[in-house]
Amino acid sequence: MASNPRAFPTATAVGAPAAAPASTSAALDELLAGNRRYATGRARRGRVPAQRPFAVVLDCVDSRVLPELVFDQDLGALLCIRTAGQVLDEAVLASIQYGVTELRVPLVVVLGHEGCGAVAATLGRLRTGAPVPGHLELLVEEIAPAARRTGALPGDWAAHTVRAHAVWVRDAIRADSAFAGAAVVAARLDPDSGLVTLLP
Ligand SMILES: [Zn+2]
Repeated sequence: MASNPRAFPTATAVGAPAAAPASTSAALDELLAGNRRYATGRARRGRVPAQRPFAVVLDCVDSRVLPELVFDQDLGALLCIRTAGQVLDEAVLASIQYGVTELRVPLVVVLGHEGCGAVAATLGRLRTGAPVPGHLELLVEEIAPAARRTGALPGDWAAHTVRAHAVWVRDAIRADSAFAGAAVVAARLDPDSGLVTLLP
């Protein structure tokens, strides 16, 4: 979520990869070149032979928060659903249900992270009242309740909001009878230390 610096000001100030393509056409060329390596067996990682996920991970689209890296799992081991600020919508719920019901995945992890740009945008919206562009308003609507509940707490408002929002998403999934067969937990990631901590 670093593509709109106005809406996502400081929290996603992560340096771009050194070899990041400089233009749209270069970006597409890089993707297609990578696909040719993949298809011809010259990729850095091989193909995933079978889909056998043992956990569903709902997390943010932040490019630092890749579940397979964070949890050190093979490709194919996790069913990953990613939305900015790990907000819920019907497509997300349907995707979780696909994992839990069809693939019989027993565990759902809701993973928030410190330094989340979607949370920063939400807090900025609440502080200033200024609208956020277009579809980003959905993120604000979904994250604002957690921000409002934690606004009076001492300490880092953004950190409180990250935790409260992840717990809210967890509880919303837990309360849905469609997922009664799975355990649902919430956690937060500190991208600096790499540590994931379960949330009560
Ligand atoms: Zn994020």
